[in-house]
Parts: sequence; structure tokens; C-alpha cells
Amino acid sequence: MLQWRGEPQREFHEKAAAAARSRFGKRIFVRGVVEVSNFCRENCVYCGMRRDNRNLSRFRAHHDELAEMLIHHRPASITDLNIQAGEDPVAVRDVVLPLIKTLRRETDLGISVCLGSLSHNLYADLKNAGASIYIIKFEIADSARYAEMQSPGKYAERLDNIRHLAQTGWRVSSGFIAGLPGQTTEDMLQNLSLANELPLDGCSVSPFIPGDESPLGSAPMCGIDITLNSMAAMRLMRPDWVIPSVSALNLADPGKGYSRGLRTGANLVTINLTPSEMRGNYLLYKRDRFIMTEERILNAISGEGLEPSTQSLVDFYGPKSVAETNQPIASASA
Ligand code: SF4
Repeated sequence: MLQWRGEPQREFHEKAAAAARSRFGKRIFVRGVVEVSNFCRENCVYCGMRRDNRNLSRFRAHHDELAEMLIHHRPASITDLNIQAGEDPVAVRDVVLPLIKTLRRETDLGISVCLGSLSHNLYADLKNAGASIYIIKFEIADSARYAEMQSPGKYAERLDNIRHLAQTGWRVSSGFIAGLPGQTTEDMLQNLSLANELPLDGCSVSPFIPGDESPLGSAPMCGIDITLNSMAAMRLMRPDWVIPSVSALNLADPGKGYSRGLRTGANLVTINLTPSEMRGNYLLYKRDRFIMTEERILNAISGEGLEPSTQSLVDFYGPKSVAETNQPIASASA
């Protein structure tokens, strides 16, 4: 089914969308994202933020400036905020922790973080500060390919981090890349299988977009169909998951990809709130259409006959029960 096109594909996507609507109704979670640092100690071959890219101007945001913007000027539709960075423990301590504490005090935003593999102590500090959802992608469900792509840290450690976060009360969302050069249908099925085995509350599928200034910079971009078919398969596998329509879908299918993600059972969208003076140094934003503004997001939601959720993701999940936290966790077969 990952290869379906035409009428069978359309029916497949409709079935996935119906599964999402029967579990979540018409509501789509609306989250903001701020990127707080593009320093990264890792060196993934598919990413322009890798440490070996000397042509990228690096920045760390100031937490007080971000807090001011988020407290007084955030879009009215967002219920949650995702704080994202390269793998940069300095930014976690100097920017992310104070920002979370301020937002906890001044707003009712649910807080997600996407900060990579960190020490258990830093995970605990983030949780104590008030974050409750951790986004940590496993990227590739094959240890040899993971090493070949120089994905973050070691494969086994990455999965251990995912399990540790889930066992310490975090709601965990993961994700993988569709369409990496050389990827086979079996590889994609392995990605879905690993996602299903991990203790997750959500998962994303990101189409491979060749990162400028990365070793895979001239490789072909992933096609939209394999990405959407993977999302549909994942939705049917896990009707209860929160699955985002990632903004990179709009590069894989310009202008339409994002809406097609919603039509394939996605139930989360993200508005980019990174201040424009920083975006210039964040490689993903070299193309304007990549920036999902509130207007574009709300148009995409209403265009599909859906509605922005007034309930935050964090309230939807609620605190993790002891039974959920202690669930036996299948080890990865990959
Ligand atoms: S994918 Fe993430 S961990 Fe890897 S180089 Fe890019 S920012 Fe760093």
C-alpha cells in the first residue's frame, strides 16, 4: 500500500482521515514553534545544521526576547508551544529552561520540547520547569543505516532515550524520514513497525528534503506519495496518535502538501514563530513557502472542513498515569 497511486490511494487516504475524525472529530491541534539555537554537536549527513557545515551562521536566541513575543504577541489560535533547537545543551540551560519557567508563570500554553539526546538530569530539569511533551525522532529504524547517515548519537542510545523519557512521565512523540536515498519499501515498513513498538503518544513522517550544504545536498527530494501513504498507514495503525502535517510536505508538493497531510489523517499543525531575523540563518527557511504562518495554517484547516482545537495537546493527553508509565515496553526488533 505504500506504493499505491490513483483511486486505491485516494480511498486509502480517505480511510485514514475517517479514522482520525472518528477519534478526534474535526479538531486539529494548533501549536507554535520557536527555534532557539542552530548550534548542533551532531553531524547527520541529511541536515544542513550539522556541525561540519562551516558556512552556516550560528545563533542562540535570548530567552527574554522570545518570552516577550510569546506572552504579548503570539497568535490567538495556538494552545501549545514547541521549543526546538539543534543538539545544543548550552541553549537548553541558557535559553530553554528560563523560557519555559517564564511561560509557565505567565501563560497557559502547553510546552513541548524538541532538543535531541540529552543527559537524564537535563530531561528532569526540563520536566520540572514545566515541559511535558518530548519530541525525539528515531529517524531511521535500521542500526546500520542509522550509523551510515551519522544520525544523532548511537541508534541503541536513541531508542533508550525514547524509553527513558516515556518511563519518566513524558508524553513522547517520535518520527522518521521518508525517501532517504537508497531507502526501500521494506525500510519504510521497518520504520512503521519500530514506531508501533515504541512507547509513543504521537509520531511524524518527514519527507527527505536535501539539506543545503550537507553531503546529501544534491540527492533527489522525497516524493509526496510515499510520505502521505506512510502517514495513512500510520494513522490506520494508531488511530489514537497525534500525527502532525509537517511543513516540509509543502516542499514535497508545493502549495498543496500541507492540506494533503490533513486529508490523510494528520491532526496537528504548527505555526512558525521564530523571529524573522533568526530565520535567515536557519537553513530550512531559505524558501519562503516553507514558513507556515497563522493565516496559511488556518486557511489549510478550514479548507479541509476542519476546525482548530481550543483544547491544548497537553490537556488532551493529561498527566501520565502510573499504569501508562509502567507499561511493559517491547524492545526494538530492528
Ligand atoms: S538532524 Fe538534528 S541532530 Fe542531526 S545535524 Fe540536524 S539538527 Fe543536528
